[in-house]
Amino acid sequence: MEVKEPKRRIPLVGILSGMISVASHLFRKPVTVQYPEVRPYEPERFRFRISLKLDDCVGCTLCEQVCPNGSIKMEKLVRENPRNKRMLYPDVNFGTCTVCRNCEEICPTTAIYLTHEFETARTKNSFLYSPLELAMDEKEVKK
Ligand code: SF4
Ligand code: SF4
Repeated sequence: MEVKEPKRRIPLVGILSGMISVASHLFRKPVTVQYPEVRPYEPERFRFRISLKLDDCVGCTLCEQVCPNGSIKMEKLVRENPRNKRMLYPDVNFGTCTVCRNCEEICPTTAIYLTHEFETARTKNSFLYSPLELAMDEKEVKK
């Protein structure tokens, strides 16, 4: 069997093409931003943090039933709300939530909905949000 000889390469061509490639990026607009001083671009349809309007929740448990990975559990919360006689409200575990939006779509009263908020870093090792925390602005949540 005939053994093919490796192709001969012209010296420095590889280095020059690498340098041209690097130089072509020098004049392009940078894609990085100085976060957190500068907030990154958020696409219009981006969604993450779930919020809850406590007064609109009727405790129907549909959001819990439709969640594909059990991220929502109903919790008893004693508060005045004539629309929610069983006093059941959802809590959400963002550690397992896949942001599928099923809960938002099934909710008959639009009480639960996804927002643009994504800054949910915490010092405690739990991403479980109680109904009261879901109703708060993210800046008010004790982390
Ligand atoms: S958030 Fe909506 S779907 Fe979930 S229990 Fe309340 S009313 Fe029902
Ligand atoms: S967005 Fe999807 S995964 Fe997250 S809590 Fe709602 S139903 Fe569950």
